[in-house]
Amino acid sequence: MNRTIAIIGNPNSGKTTLFNRLTGSNQHVGNWPGVTVDRKTGHICYHNHAVDVVDLPGIYSLSPFTQEEIIAREYVLSDEPGGILNIVDATNLERNLYLTMQLIALGLPMVVALNFIDDCRAQGVEIDCGKLSETLGVEVIPISARKGENMDRLLETVTCRLQKPVRQPAYLHGVGAAISRTARALADTTLRRESLPFYALKLLEGDSHVRRTVKLPPAAEQMVTETAAALSSHGSEDNEMILADALYDFIEEAVRRAVSRPEKPVLTVTQRLDRIIMDKWLALPIFALLMALMFWSTFGPVGTFFADLFESLIQGGIIPAVQRALAAAGASGWVVGLVCDGVLGGVGGVVGFLPQIVILFFYLSLLEDTGYLARIAFIMDTLLRRIGLSGKSFVPMLMGFGCTTPAVMAARTMENEKDRRMTIMLTPFMSCGAKLPVYALFAGALFPQSPALIIVSLYALGILVGIFAGWLLKKTVFRGVSSGFVLELPPYRLPTLRGTLQNMWEKAKDFLTKAGTVIFVMSIVIWLLQNFTPSLQTAADSADSILGVFGRFIAPVFAPLGFGEWRASVSILTGVIAKEAVVSTMSVLYGVDLGSLGSLLQSVFTPLSAYAFLVFILLYMPCMSAFATIRREMGGWKWAVGVAAFQTVLAWAVSFLIYQFGSLLL
Ligand code: GDP
Ligand code: MG
Repeated sequence: MNRTIAIIGNPNSGKTTLFNRLTGSNQHVGNWPGVTVDRKTGHICYHNHAVDVVDLPGIYSLSPFTQEEIIAREYVLSDEPGGILNIVDATNLERNLYLTMQLIALGLPMVVALNFIDDCRAQGVEIDCGKLSETLGVEVIPISARKGENMDRLLETVTCRLQKPVRQPAYLHGVGAAISRTARALADTTLRRESLPFYALKLLEGDSHVRRTVKLPPAAEQMVTETAAALSSHGSEDNEMILADALYDFIEEAVRRAVSRPEKPVLTVTQRLDRIIMDKWLALPIFALLMALMFWSTFGPVGTFFADLFESLIQGGIIPAVQRALAAAGASGWVVGLVCDGVLGGVGGVVGFLPQIVILFFYLSLLEDTGYLARIAFIMDTLLRRIGLSGKSFVPMLMGFGCTTPAVMAARTMENEKDRRMTIMLTPFMSCGAKLPVYALFAGALFPQSPALIIVSLYALGILVGIFAGWLLKKTVFRGVSSGFVLELPPYRLPTLRGTLQNMWEKAKDFLTKAGTVIFVMSIVIWLLQNFTPSLQTAADSADSILGVFGRFIAPVFAPLGFGEWRASVSILTGVIAKEAVVSTMSVLYGVDLGSLGSLLQSVFTPLSAYAFLVFILLYMPCMSAFATIRREMGGWKWAVGVAAFQTVLAWAVSFLIYQFGSLLL
């Protein structure tokens, strides 16, 4: 008996929350569709019964519209899952049950977890799970994944009682007969017996993907064609509509029998809040205000306070302690140099920004969990539509504020292949978390009066350039109509402390891991390369070192942008490996600690050239890991290199314009 259970449900129905509850793991939970793109596997053990569970991306149906739906469908049709745990959002029962009906047709052992039962109760909605279960023919268990209600019963069912294939419910109208006739015609094929109703449903719908992959014997082929033709002769609509209607009629009836709603529906908190937050005139000002507040507190007083505290700990505590320890151990001069200037300078330089990173991610996590982030996409949609773009691209783009890699993967939620590719090309323009240390360093050093303003302007510029590039691509490479925007707005929810802390911790962990690995190695390499000449002598002046020679060779490229200084040029190159490396490289190359690095930068950069530099860092090609993801998602080196070149050229051009016009004006 196969002991893998697939968790399947609509986007934002609480799959990951449930998965974490059941398996005790810590996957990322977010209050908007499209968060889980990869599938995750976990293990449950309940009273000595063990099963594996797989958390799949959220889908609305088993029709192959988006890549995720195809992935999920191929997975459930494979031999791997032995059962299905269908999670249903009880506050959106009709729409969720549409997927449930298709899952039932797969014939696998199945249980329905009716989630959000707490929200239902608050809205005065009562659901009779016994009746629902009777109509659907599957066990229905009311749960609250968030509060952990009824988990024992669900666990027991999932581990011990998911054995028997589900029985097919009686469909309404003549559709049921057509499905069973088709299913019987498929009996001689190699298809999984229990899933024949599903194949029948899809073949009658005229699903081209199933038609192509399923080899039918001629007799069956003819039977399917005849039945499909007979079905469509009933009405003026095509079979897909007829079947969907039949499913929805069945669902409506099931819901009518099982659900009792209050006479006067209570206006939900979400509806009341959205009257203000999503108001035609107030939406944008509120958005701007929230952003300003977020950046002001991250880079203004709160952020600076924690950053200073943290820095004095590193500079005043750790580094001198290491120096003393090395001196006591009688280490030679170059070892002290390597450890203190190379490793501690580079790694310490980056780690110093940990507090601000964590604070920013605290806010991003709040925005996401409350459900506001999804609304930003919605607000932007109305704007983007006017220039022919789909607001749906904006969802992955917003994820790009965290990290480009998952954001590029999130583009899989887009149905339209052209739109998907275009979105992938735009996400790297969003300012990812790794660029933050660079901004913070420069904004603190060269714009001490208004660091937050400078950083907000960079974020805004990233969005604007993204929109502009999107418009440009839409007019040239990706000509065509954008698909409609179907992102649904999740209800507002109070974020959980656990979820928020977990997001912050994950981010801090990622950041520190990178500092301890990539940045660590890079700092050593940079230190070595700047201490030896090309003929492998120790370099008296770092300008004569290997790195210096190389840096001066490439520096002219950046001279028209205002930062043709060789150290700045080298740090741009190392930034390709990881964006934080720009800061660590500078710390090592200028050979000073973070505190005095600021004042040194003041002598190398003017505010204008510093701003041009930051703009270049914002827009130029993404880091190696994002680059690799783009290659994978775009299916080829050509695309990835093209994207990187496109971005770098654009970065150069924008930076050039800013520096040259700025010089004229100032
Ligand atoms: P997924 O997209 O299906 O993986 O959904 P998530 O697990 O990311 O959850 C979406 C949102 O719903 C999060 O904000 C959760 O905290 C919230 N949530 C999940 N289950 C429940 C529940 O039973 N009750 C309530 N009130 N909120 C829930
Ligand atoms: Mg999820």
